[in-house]
Amino acid sequence: MATLQVMTNTGVGKSLEEATVQAFQTNLRGPLLQPGDVGYDDARVVWNGMIDRKPALIVRCVGVADVIQAINFARDHQLLVSVRGGGHNITGYAVNDGGIVIDLSRMKGIRVDTAKRTARAEAGLTWGEYYHEVQAFGLASTGGVVSTTGISGLSLGGGLGWLMGKHGLSCDCLLSADMVTADGRLVTASASENPDLFWGLRGGGGNFGVVTSFEFQLYPVGPTVLGGMVVYPMSQAKEVLRFYREYARTCPDELTAWASLMISPEGEPVAAILINYMGDLAEGERLAEPVRKFGSPLADTIGPMTYCELNSMLDDAFPYGTVQRYWKSSFLKELGDEVIDILVEGASNMLSPMSLVGFFHVHGAAARTGADETAFGLQEDQWDYDIISQWTDPAETDMHIQWTRDFFNRVQPYTNGVYVNHLDAEEAERIGEAYGKHYERLLALKNKYDPTNLFRLNQNIKPTV
Ligand SMILES: Cc1cc2nc3c(=O)[nH]c(=O)nc-3n(C[C@H](O)[C@H](O)[C@H](O)COP(=O)(O)OP(=O)(O)OC[C@H]3O[C@@H](n4cnc5c(N)ncnc54)[C@H](O)[C@@H]3O)c2cc1C
Repeated sequence: MATLQVMTNTGVGKSLEEATVQAFQTNLRGPLLQPGDVGYDDARVVWNGMIDRKPALIVRCVGVADVIQAINFARDHQLLVSVRGGGHNITGYAVNDGGIVIDLSRMKGIRVDTAKRTARAEAGLTWGEYYHEVQAFGLASTGGVVSTTGISGLSLGGGLGWLMGKHGLSCDCLLSADMVTADGRLVTASASENPDLFWGLRGGGGNFGVVTSFEFQLYPVGPTVLGGMVVYPMSQAKEVLRFYREYARTCPDELTAWASLMISPEGEPVAAILINYMGDLAEGERLAEPVRKFGSPLADTIGPMTYCELNSMLDDAFPYGTVQRYWKSSFLKELGDEVIDILVEGASNMLSPMSLVGFFHVHGAAARTGADETAFGLQEDQWDYDIISQWTDPAETDMHIQWTRDFFNRVQPYTNGVYVNHLDAEEAERIGEAYGKHYERLLALKNKYDPTNLFRLNQNIKPTV
């Protein structure tokens, strides 16, 4: 009798009878892919091109019933489980070798309630798709700044985005979520239903179950916002970052300023200040003036744009799937002179024209959410900084990884914790740092909702029961 080789969640191989797999398939509405099937190779591609994993089964769920079936099957057969939203996570945990992938990327339903200003969004939407639907009504919530990123992984880990100064992180915009638990039950988490789980889903990542849909609060963003970047030569980068630090500190909630050290499309090393103003365009122009007038810019792209355009203006720098990636990240409480010098010197020696260093300023509403209100542990005025190495030749991998690590180690003494969504797979010792003082409370939730650690391919909280 034909069998399928699979990997269990304890790392042991075993075989499943073909009839067992066929019976599972019969109970699904979406396709079940195995190696060799049409579409299998496309379905295992994730954003980080360094990841090349071959799951035994990929369930392309099209609804909640498929998710329940997939979880029950995985649990009953002790399979290694991945959960895939947008597939953007640097770790590549959205896919695995030999296990099962619960692939939500076909679940793209969304309903906007314009009266209540809410959106009920299925877990497979990307931010670009989500913004397209909500922008049609002049509304939006905080989300990712690259349009191909998934709404799921990003919101469950926190969610830094252009609107965070005014309306908080993505997880602060969350009103409720539907989730299938490890024992196959559909539960709703909100302020009034399972509030403990609702707290944990806002920062605790994918540890507790599979979220099938999110309900977000929406806010007016109008037909256009002010956005864009001012670009300076790398030779001015130290002065630019010193100016940027002071400028960012004075930004009202409506104004967000980020920075980047990178290589321009013309091949020139540059420093950029990126801004967005959510409000009256003339007031935005006035507030942007100091950035435009500083130093001797090479380029200035600031102007009116739609919220969708704002959140896709960085897309070209992060193509999906085809590029090798390695990154390191931390929070910086201060952008002091010493650390600026280290960052600029490091970025001036980048090994690839695709690599960059980015700075997200967490401020305003995102920094005011009460420390215990959500599981996101590090809600304060600070910068999330990321060294993002990207290259195309796999033979260069060791060189880029070593460069990134050395650079990161020089910056690390100046840092203050890490954003869970920016942790790499090799950073298990930093998981406690990312969840911070909420770790014990998250552990109690993990023990309650996933005591056997069915959902372990994530920044994992190991159950203790
Ligand atoms: C180019 C790029 C741009 C980014 N921009 C931002 C940004 O602007 N702001 C920001 O905060 N972060 C950003 N990130 C980081 C991003 O938040 C994480 O990579 C996030 O995990 C991506 O979510 P995803 O659904 O696309 O990823 P996936 O790889 O599909 O999922 C990541 C993990 O989340 C869990 N998960 C996913 N879906 C579900 C679900 N429905 N239920 C339960 N668990 C689930 C699983 O554990 C999974 O392994 C960016 C990343 C990249 C690569």
